[in-house]
Amino acid sequence: RIVYLNGRYLEEHRAQVSVFDRGFLFADAVYEVTAVLNSKLIDFAGHFARLQRSCTELGLTLPVSEQQLRDIHQELLIRNQLHEGGIYLQLTRGSAGDRDFCAPADLSPTLLLFTQARPLKDAPQASAGIHVVSLPDIRWHRRDIKTVQLLAPCLAKELAHARGADDAWLVEDGFVTEGSSSNAYIVTADGTVVTRPLSNDILHGITRQALMQLAADGGIKVEERAFTIAEALAAKEAFISSATTVVWPVVSIDGQTIGDGKPGPVSLRLRQRYLQLAEQSTQG
Ligand code: PLP
Repeated sequence: RIVYLNGRYLEEHRAQVSVFDRGFLFADAVYEVTAVLNSKLIDFAGHFARLQRSCTELGLTLPVSEQQLRDIHQELLIRNQLHEGGIYLQLTRGSAGDRDFCAPADLSPTLLLFTQARPLKDAPQASAGIHVVSLPDIRWHRRDIKTVQLLAPCLAKELAHARGADDAWLVEDGFVTEGSSSNAYIVTADGTVVTRPLSNDILHGITRQALMQLAADGGIKVEERAFTIAEALAAKEAFISSATTVVWPVVSIDGQTIGDGKPGPVSLRLRQRYLQLAEQSTQG
């Protein structure tokens, strides 16, 4: 696999980053994952806008323009013949050649991108649905910034797997914040999609943004408010969204079946519509 590192395309085993890189030592870094379908980027503009926002919040400077970054994504997917999957991007504050909590102002950031092939359209989880468990949300309070501090979600996923589930929904003060690497939704008895409003408590999903628009266009009512696990258990449907899953129905929470235990019509309709539009679009 060819990866991109600081202006160069390299075989993955040739790509090297300093042991003093602040991404490695302090998780002083942001990331993005842009999905690829039929060798095309999905919503690159949305991911770029969020990357810029993450950078601004942390005082990081992107070393490339939007067009340059788009070109790097395109070049990488061509070089790796990526048809379906995602492109991972990480930008760290760089290396000062030693370990010091305070970073000098003049560091050169580290920019890394690599491709990951995975099924997007025919993922088995999309047709079977996934099982989640609820866990306390122990992450920091700026979840709106897409940083690489991902230990809490790693542990949540491991705990979920240990309990025989696929993933976790995170709960804070009695309300679901989001999934461990996705936004969380329920569908109430009257067909209303409910999802937590945007704030520092959750990542502002690019897929979420697109789904909100699709729901509005398709006459599906959306309520942006926090919901509890009890409410989710009583819902007709539940689902998650993210760039690499699009929409995956949630068919059980903490071992209790949601609705009839099968992927629901609203979840599947949003998923199909999203994929349809992504396939029709000529530019990401
Ligand atoms: N919430 C969290 C915590 C995530 O990690 C992700 C994606 O990785 C999302 C939500 C979904 O965001 P997006 O739709 O932009 O992939």
